[in-house]
Amino acid sequence: MDFAISEEYRALKKVARRFVQEECNPREEEVERNNEFPKEMMKEMAKKAVDIGIYALDQPAEYGGGGEGLMCRVMVAEEFGRTTDAFDFLHAGGDTMIARYGSDEQKEKYLRPLCNGEMFVAIGMTEPDAGSDVASIQTTAEKDGDNYIINGNKRFTTLGDVADIIKVWAVTDKVKRAKGGITCFLVEAGTQGFSVTKVQETMGNKGMHQCEETFENCVVPSESMLGPEGEGLTIFGKTYAEGRGRHGGRAIGTAEMLLEMCRDYANIRVQFGKPIGERQFIQGMIADMAIDIYATRMLTYNFAWKYDQGMDVRHDSSMVKVFFSEMLCRVADSAMQIHGGVGYTTEFPIERIYRDVRLRRIAGGTNEIQRYIIARNILRKNISVGEISEYA
Ligand SMILES: Cc1cc2nc3c(=O)[nH]c(=O)nc-3n(C[C@H](O)[C@H](O)[C@H](O)COP(=O)(O)OP(=O)(O)OC[C@H]3O[C@@H](n4cnc5c(N)ncnc54)[C@H](O)[C@@H]3O)c2cc1C
Repeated sequence: MDFAISEEYRALKKVARRFVQEECNPREEEVERNNEFPKEMMKEMAKKAVDIGIYALDQPAEYGGGGEGLMCRVMVAEEFGRTTDAFDFLHAGGDTMIARYGSDEQKEKYLRPLCNGEMFVAIGMTEPDAGSDVASIQTTAEKDGDNYIINGNKRFTTLGDVADIIKVWAVTDKVKRAKGGITCFLVEAGTQGFSVTKVQETMGNKGMHQCEETFENCVVPSESMLGPEGEGLTIFGKTYAEGRGRHGGRAIGTAEMLLEMCRDYANIRVQFGKPIGERQFIQGMIADMAIDIYATRMLTYNFAWKYDQGMDVRHDSSMVKVFFSEMLCRVADSAMQIHGGVGYTTEFPIERIYRDVRLRRIAGGTNEIQRYIIARNILRKNISVGEISEYA
C-alpha cells in the first residue's frame, strides 16, 4: 500500500482549501444564524465548485464527473471538513447509486445535472418506525399498470425540502420485504401526492434541513425505479461505503483544524505566568488529538485505497465509521477543554463544531449497529481484518 499523495491531488487539495476559505467560511455564520441554506446560494456555490473542478470528482466522466476514485474524494473532503456540514455537498455532487444502477435515461436526466450542480438529491430511507431497522419500513409502492402508487411517511430526509429528486425506498412485495421486496424509486420534487410536512429542529448541522415527508397516493412511472424491483436494500448496501470514506475525510479535516486552533491558543494563552501549552495536562490532550488524527487518516486512506482496488470494504467501512466519528467527538471535546470558557462561547467555532460532530455517531448507521455488524462478521462469519480482502 502506498499512501503517498500525488502532485495532482495535492494541487486539488489546495484549490479546495482556497474555495472553502473564500466561499464557505465567510457564509458559515449566516447559515448558522438563519438555519437556512437558500437553494439559490447552493446553486451558485455549486456552479463555482464545478468550474474549478472539485465537484462530483468520483462520478463518471461521461456524465460530467471527475472520473476519479474514492481516495481523491477523501482528499478533497478533508478540506471541506474545515467548514460547516451544510457546505459538504459542494464536493459531493452526483450520485453513486444512480451512476451504478441507473438506466441510461435516468443517468442522462438526473446524473448529468447532479454532476453539474444543477440538481440536488436527497435520501428517503428513514421512517418514524424504521431507523436502524431499515428492513421494517412501512412505505409501500403498489403497481398500477405502468405506474407505482407510493404511500407512507419518511423522516430525517436531509435537504428534502430543496432536493430536486428524492430516492425513496418502499415495499413492493409485502411477503418478501427485506428479501427482495423493497425497491428504490426516484421521485421528483413537485410530484403530486408528495409533500414536505415538517422541518425538524436539530441541535447542530444548521442549514441542512431534516425533513418529514408524506407520500399520499403519489403516482410515479415504472421508469422511476432505480435498479431492479426488489433490490432496493441490495443497491443501498453496495453503495453506502463510499459515504463513509467521504465523512472519514471530513472528520480528519475538522479534527486537524481543531488541533491547529488548540496549538495556537495553547501557545498564547498565559495563566500562572506561563502559556498553558507548557502544562502537561494540555500537552497530553494535544498529543492524543494528534495520535487520533493520524490513526484515522491511516484507517481512512487504507479503506479508500481498498475501495479503489475494487475490494469488498463493507466490514472495513463499519470500523472506519465508528473510529472517525468517535475520534471526532474526542477531539472536539478536548478542543473545547483547552480553550476553556471562550471555547464554550459562540465567538469561537468550537461550540458549533462540538454540536455538529455529535451527529456522526448517529447518522449513516449508528455506532451500536456498526459494532454489531463488526462483531457478527467476526463471530459468525469468521472474518478478521487480515483476511478482509477475501470477504465477498
Ligand atoms: C441530522 C440527521 C440526518 C439524517 N439524514 C438522513 C437522510 O438523509 N436520510 C435518511 O434516510 N435518514 C437520515 N437520518 C436518519 C439516521 O440514519 C437514523 O437516525 C439512524 O439510522 C438511527 O435511526 P433512529 O434515529 O430511528 O434510531 P433507532 O434505530 O431508534 O435507535 C435508537 C438507539 O437504539 C440503538 N439500537 C437500535 N437497534 C439496536 C440493536 N439491534 N442493537 C443495539 N442497539 C440498537 C441505536 O444504536 C440507538 O442508540 C438522519 C438522522 C439525523 C439525526
